[in-house]
Amino acid sequence: GVGTVMGAKNLKALAIVGTGRVTPHDPKALKAAVAEQLEWVKANPMSSVSFDVMHTTGTIAGIEYGNSLGTFPTRNNRWGQMEGFEKIASSEYQKLLTRKYGCYACRVKCYCGYKVKSGRYKCVSVGGPNYESVWAFTGTIDSPELEPTIYADTRCDDVGVDTISMGVTIGCAFELFERGLITTKDTDGLKLVWGNHDAALQLIEKTARREGFGDLLAEGSVRMTQRLGRGAEAYAMHIKGQEMPGYEPRGLKAQGMNFATANVGANHNYGYASQEIYGVQVPRPTDPYADEGNADITKYNQDVTAMIETGIQCTFYSICDWITPEIFSKLLVAATGIPEHGDVQHMWKVAERIYNIERAFAIREGFGRKDDSLPQRILTEELQKGPAEGQRVRKQDVFLDQYYDLRGWDRSGIPTEKKLRELGLGDLVSDIVK
Ligand code: SF4
Repeated sequence: GVGTVMGAKNLKALAIVGTGRVTPHDPKALKAAVAEQLEWVKANPMSSVSFDVMHTTGTIAGIEYGNSLGTFPTRNNRWGQMEGFEKIASSEYQKLLTRKYGCYACRVKCYCGYKVKSGRYKCVSVGGPNYESVWAFTGTIDSPELEPTIYADTRCDDVGVDTISMGVTIGCAFELFERGLITTKDTDGLKLVWGNHDAALQLIEKTARREGFGDLLAEGSVRMTQRLGRGAEAYAMHIKGQEMPGYEPRGLKAQGMNFATANVGANHNYGYASQEIYGVQVPRPTDPYADEGNADITKYNQDVTAMIETGIQCTFYSICDWITPEIFSKLLVAATGIPEHGDVQHMWKVAERIYNIERAFAIREGFGRKDDSLPQRILTEELQKGPAEGQRVRKQDVFLDQYYDLRGWDRSGIPTEKKLRELGLGDLVSDIVK
């Protein structure tokens, strides 16, 4: 994506300073739509609770919540719950909190800064760790330790490394070590045993500098395991080359199948299944353990994300049910003055169009049904520990058939000519339809 292009050009960031004012097309209508949105949040218990929780602790409340559901992937996705997770609960993080802040003009302000005052892990975090980063440096290696996790997150920020990819790749290496597929000869003498947080911290430094074993880790879990061979590939927890985030698909199956089918690979920011995670009732309630029948939920969530992102709006607004497509549509037409944006059906079509353009790109580049898959472990091994123990994703192929049918794609996962023309994307037909 854009990050890769910037990286190739040694471009770290772009900062833009403006002096003019941005005026909405219809300020009065915009104000009314904002008021309607606030009413929606107040009137819905789930929306107002999540608003307060996010404002107070940020996403970190997910640590205790995910463990209570048994969907906190532990030991490289073998377990659904981590023993001792109370030690890293949001209440423990609150004790080290130094600042709360957020994006411009957002009332939620979900970011938290922490300080470890002294000792080996002394550091000041700029923002975070958030839920994903805490999980990436605790669940993956089965180590419920607070201070080393803040330190790991801070170091990843310093050296410009993604915490999920780093943590999951390290968790994979720990499992390879346990299984004897790598030894201290491969790891520069480090003993990658579960709970060894200090070894994980050293691996971050080695990866950033591509030193020794870090040179292999820097390739990510897929290429690392491919290079090692010997069956190591089975322990890379990824989809389409992207490491899976901190939601156990066996206990949250619509979320899991969203990971499997997401155009960008496993991604918790796209198509988040709030219905099964938080009990959101829109468009309908769902059973997180259902093996089939939830393809419509996955499609709905993916399309909602695509729609909301057209307004450059934070994904938490759809995840936490702080906005509806109808209110979003009113905000957008008031801001832009483009009449079609006031028609929700038009916005659903825009969302589908976005999703199909992305899919067409992926198909043209060689992706397809074979890549819409959860890791083998999720399909064949039953989850251990916690309330979702015994679950696995049993009917991935049934799900994919239903999902492709709903999307108007063929059974290989390729958008049909009819679907593309219906969406006004006829120019893509020659690229992907055989
Ligand atoms: S816009 Fe989103 S990410 Fe930014 S502070 Fe608000 S809720 Fe948090």
